[in-house]
Amino acid sequence: MHQEYPIHKINSLVKERIDEAIKLLKELIEIPTENPPGNNYLEMAYLLNNVLNKLGYKTEVVKVPQEVSDRLAPHGKGLPRVNVVGYLQEGVGGPLIHLNGHFDVVPAGLHWSFNPFKGIIKDNKVYGRGASDMKSGIVTQIFSVEVLREAMKELGYKLNGTIVESFTCDEETGGFAGVGYLVDKGYISKNTNFILITEPTDSRYIVVGHRGVIWLKVKVYGEKAHGAVAQLGVNAIDRARLILNKFAELNLHLKSRVSENILPIEASYATLTPTMINAGLASNIVPDICEIVFDRRLSMNEKVDIAMEEMKRIVEETLIKDYDIEMLMSVEPVKVPLSTMLINTLSKSIELIVGENPRYYYLAATMDMKFFVRNTGINECVVYGPGIMSVAHMTNEYVPIENIITSIKVLSLTLSKLFKTI
Ligand SMILES: [Zn+2]
Repeated sequence: MHQEYPIHKINSLVKERIDEAIKLLKELIEIPTENPPGNNYLEMAYLLNNVLNKLGYKTEVVKVPQEVSDRLAPHGKGLPRVNVVGYLQEGVGGPLIHLNGHFDVVPAGLHWSFNPFKGIIKDNKVYGRGASDMKSGIVTQIFSVEVLREAMKELGYKLNGTIVESFTCDEETGGFAGVGYLVDKGYISKNTNFILITEPTDSRYIVVGHRGVIWLKVKVYGEKAHGAVAQLGVNAIDRARLILNKFAELNLHLKSRVSENILPIEASYATLTPTMINAGLASNIVPDICEIVFDRRLSMNEKVDIAMEEMKRIVEETLIKDYDIEMLMSVEPVKVPLSTMLINTLSKSIELIVGENPRYYYLAATMDMKFFVRNTGINECVVYGPGIMSVAHMTNEYVPIENIITSIKVLSLTLSKLFKTI
């Protein structure tokens, strides 16, 4: 419609607003929302709520009731679980676009060169826990909308549509009290046309899905005996070792189940990893219980029930009699079609701003995309944001300011196209 749609207008507005965006990023980093256990969520939620309010959004701070959060966030030590949703209606009708980011961060850990909760700026990078994953994503969401609104106002164009921004908790521990809760309670409208999650994609590639996972607990039973007459007992650790050996064989076999375009590339094949083990009461007692937890990562074309059957069959083959198998948690692989309007629009915007065709990836680990795509059935959902995946969760995590600038431009342009202003 407006052929001369001015990238230069977006460019100059981003330049004007970037200091303000970095200031907000520092404020977000300065609230240590480490999860587990989920510290300072209320403080963070009210800060973000106020930011959106001042910008004219109608907002709601969605508190998860205590008894529900105890169930959905058992790691949470009773700390409050809370999410923020903001609505901005522009003009009449038009598409509904949902932008989402999580505000919890993994624990900072030790050995940082800077205070991880200060948002120190050095060499055009902002350092701090959550700088990449993903407080810079939240800032990008907010400012890409602001830049778009300002550009439209200055140019006298009209925006028609609704922006919904959600800032959610607990992504780093599964997201059940975060996006999972919002989806459950109907906060993600069925009328949503497009969903953008601003997790780290280095401002230049697009994540279109993620692998699946099963957490499996195997409990093997034996019979206690004095260590001096171990012959009289049945050692549960010895029995469990049979399963460990068989599962190690399966793990080798899984190397042949390869998926394309997985990020990082090392995670291209399926795996089965023992991650926790618990047995024994004292050094002189033959243990009668051994409990092992396994982490099974699925390739993109595997299914949870088939992978479960395979593992159950292998345990049966050990001929161990007394055991229990429990699936603690499972997520099917998530994959959106590559031909959606959102992916096309975002790709073209990246091409225009970054100057190269974006690559598409599936993430090795699961994330909140599962709730959006699986539980709402909305396929117009992608991940794009300023953070760098490879520094997420690391000591001295940072985000380059240039990435924030790029992603605000890309998202402003994408939104303007989705709103059909150009
Ligand atoms: Zn994240």
